[in-house]
Amino acid sequence: MSRHYDVIIIGSGPAGLSAALYASRAKLSTLVLEKSKNGGQAAITHLIENYPGAVEDPTGPRVTARMVEQAKSFGAEIKQDEVLNVELEGDEKVVTCVSGDYTAKTVIIATGASPRKLDAPGIKELESKGISYCATCDGDFFEGLDVYVVGGANSAVEEALFLTKFARKVTIVYRRENVRCEKVTAEKAKNNPKIEILGNTVVTEAIGDGILEAIRLKNLITGEEYVIEADEEDGTMGLFFFIGYIPQTKLFEGKVEMTEDGYIKAGEDTRTNVDGVFVAGDCRVKDIRQVVTAVSDGAVAAIRAEKYIAEKFE
Ligand SMILES: Cc1cc2nc3c(=O)[nH]c(=O)nc-3n(C[C@H](O)[C@H](O)[C@H](O)COP(=O)(O)OP(=O)(O)OC[C@H]3O[C@@H](n4cnc5c(N)ncnc54)[C@H](O)[C@@H]3O)c2cc1C
Repeated sequence: MSRHYDVIIIGSGPAGLSAALYASRAKLSTLVLEKSKNGGQAAITHLIENYPGAVEDPTGPRVTARMVEQAKSFGAEIKQDEVLNVELEGDEKVVTCVSGDYTAKTVIIATGASPRKLDAPGIKELESKGISYCATCDGDFFEGLDVYVVGGANSAVEEALFLTKFARKVTIVYRRENVRCEKVTAEKAKNNPKIEILGNTVVTEAIGDGILEAIRLKNLITGEEYVIEADEEDGTMGLFFFIGYIPQTKLFEGKVEMTEDGYIKAGEDTRTNVDGVFVAGDCRVKDIRQVVTAVSDGAVAAIRAEKYIAEKFE
């Protein structure tokens, strides 16, 4: 078994799988290393209806399984192995995994970013059953329902405004008195008749048997806790969290340039500050984190890697 490759891709989410497709189709020897299940966050998404072509039964697991098959059909190897360390300087990059070392001419980092989650009872159990972290992805599942949005920074208020297209009413739950976003966005929210802002309040529990039926809130000034139940006829409600993302990039600290909050710096060309190292998908500095933008990065990174190898080694 070879342990040396043209390209090693770390992460088998949409970005990594798209990079694997492009790299293997360009006849580069390609290894994808994935610490968990293939498909990344997209694989745990109930439905991906906004990815072009994903029309027939577009569940997250199905769409990503097709990506895996397509990459494999051109020769990409995909291994379940966690990357523990990387040495990225020089012509031979060393990637250390649980099973040992691999080497490569180029490395594509595609380790993603996870939405920050609240550690409270019921949250994990009711994810994708009323609880969501992505309005663009899941907003239309809440047509005509009451929706609660947790967070008060720009993204939270903008997503709350977006959710008013679907929801009957959107309540922003925020731990401070006032939302902390751009003035113009705050004004829009205040003037939107579908939006209510509940300041000095946090969610302490999500309640439901297989589907979100109620939430427990706490007023931080009075200490009072109370439960809000879904409308009886609806039977359910929405709870969206927009309390930030955590890029999965700890491994690369001090090895490639990053922003203060841990996103790897690269432009649309996906090139990092280290020769032969590229970054694709949600862990890259960018505005929109979606499947379609992740696969786009993956394609660009693989084509860049191919060019780098041709110029440097051939
Ligand atoms: C609940 C939810 C619903 C969503 N719905 C949609 C939707 O409907 N439409 C849409 O377009 N987008 C949606 N998104 C966003 C979309 O899932 C992401 O933008 C996309 O998955 C990003 O792809 P990625 O490959 O960059 O990262 P990820 O999908 O996060 O994949 C990164 C992979 O890297 C692996 N990894 C990390 N560290 C290591 C390591 N050290 N060693 C080995 N492997 C490692 C991880 O295990 C993971 O599999 C949703 C996100 C969430 C959370």
